[in-house]
Order: sequence, then structure tokens, then C-alpha cells
Amino acid sequence: MNRGVTFKVVLLGEGSVGKTSIVLRYTENSFNDKHIETEQASFRTKKLILDGRRVELSIWDTAGQERYRALGPLYFREANGAILVFDITDQDSFNQVKDWVKQLKRVLGDDVVLCIVANKADLEKDRHVSMQTAEEYASAVNAKLYNTSAKLNKGIEELFNNLTQRMLEKT
Ligand code: GDP
Ligand code: MG
Repeated sequence: MNRGVTFKVVLLGEGSVGKTSIVLRYTENSFNDKHIETEQASFRTKKLILDGRRVELSIWDTAGQERYRALGPLYFREANGAILVFDITDQDSFNQVKDWVKQLKRVLGDDVVLCIVANKADLEKDRHVSMQTAEEYASAVNAKLYNTSAKLNKGIEELFNNLTQRMLEKT
């Protein structure tokens, strides 16, 4: 097997869209109905093997700084991949994704692999952001769109596998 490779992946998005839930679902297969407190968040690693390559993901979650728009360039620096999460029931959270994308591109240029994540897919009946709108935006910024539900464990594994695949293609 080839030598392993490590990728830095950052989570971004408004508070309460489900960033921490996505990370905990992926790394521990757990889900909590409550907002997950900061201390449980921050930094996690996950090892996987994809196409015979050993990969370690270091996954950076916010510690709530997004609420104060205080996530500085240090957080994004040298990220290989970014997961920009919005809540399909919250139009404003989608608008905020656009701000994060701008900031990211300012710091990282076009080198970073972008994932736009439409989370809380289980709340389809309360959807406020159409698939088409999200799809059009994602392709305009050269990102891919993923639909997830951290609650139902839908689309999470696919998100990280596909992101990893795309990061590997860049190496
Ligand atoms: P963060 O602030 O972006 O890290 O969001 P959290 O992961 O703390 O989640 C905020 C709230 O949304 C919590 O009450 C979660 O249980 C809930 N949540 C997260 N993901 C989902 C989901 O896929 N579906 C539903 N229905 N709720 C979710
Ligand atoms: Mg969180």
C-alpha cells in the first residue's frame, strides 16, 4: 500500500446548522438532539482507506466562533477541503455559506476542494432552500452539493468519501 496522506478539512457555516452533528456522526456514529457544546467539538481525526491509499483526515470543527464571525484565516489556513454547511429550513444559513466561500477563496484561492452541504434533509417538509438554487450556486463556485441528514445518517459517509476522493485527485 502507498504511503499515507493527511488532509486538513474544515467545517464552516452558521451556528446550529449541524456542523458538529455531521462530524460526530461520521467519527463516532452518534447523534444528539441537543446543540452540542463547544468543548466536545473542535478537532477530530479519522483514518480511512480509499482506492488503496491510506488517508488521515484532520477534521476541524468550530468552537462556536462562527456566531461572532470570528473565525480567522488561521482556521482555514492550509485546508485541503472545506465543508460548508447550511440548514435546508433556514434561508439565512444558505446566504451565509456564500460569505464563507468568499472568505475561503480569499485565503486559499482555488486550491481548496469545496463541499456545500444541505443538512437536515429529514426536515424536507420545512424546506426553505430549493435544491435547484443550491445546485446552481454550487456549480457557479466550482463546488459540489451534498444532501445530508446527520440525524438519520444519510449522505454523511458519501460526503466524506467523495471529498477525500477529490482531495486525492489533487495530490
Ligand atoms: P452546529 O452549531 O452547526 O455545530 O450545529 P449542531 O451540530 O450543534 O446542531 C444544532 C442542532 O441541530 C442540534 O439540535 C442538532 O440535534 C440538530 N441537527 C443537526 N443535524 C441535524 C439533522 O440532520 N436533522 C435534524 N432534524 N436536526 C439536526
Ligand atoms: Mg458546533
